[in-house]
Amino acid sequence: MKCPVDKDDMVVVESRRIELDLCLRCSGVWFDAQELDLLISAISADNRQESQNDLLTPSPAEVYETHRKCPICGKKMDKVWLGKEPKVLIDSCPAGDGLWFDGGELHEILHQVKNDRKDDILSFLSKTFKAQHPEDAH
Ligand SMILES: [Zn+2]
Ligand SMILES: [Zn+2]
Repeated sequence: MKCPVDKDDMVVVESRRIELDLCLRCSGVWFDAQELDLLISAISADNRQESQNDLLTPSPAEVYETHRKCPICGKKMDKVWLGKEPKVLIDSCPAGDGLWFDGGELHEILHQVKNDRKDDILSFLSKTFKAQHPEDAH
């Protein structure tokens, strides 16, 4: 799959049955729709609080950032808000193929989730990014 930002080939990484496509150039992450569901159920399994569910429910955004194209169907993606304080602006395929997080946005969302399991996913992601970007310490 090609990165919607820079058109580089993305690599597939996997953790806990969740497969992500990762761009090594811009550190963006693509979630297929069903992979996002897996992630949400993985991090919300122990935590049924309403607020945690809200956190991961996208809401439409009216913004004038450049629209990116879905790496699967090629349609222009919608901008949606995810999380709160701060909200993070991500791209969502109008056909429901999945979601695109720019580098760092996924971490920002996961940092807002209060749950033990997200630490697994976070440490997996940071390991992945570190492995791919040994020169990039953050
Ligand atoms: Zn990229
Ligand atoms: Zn699509």
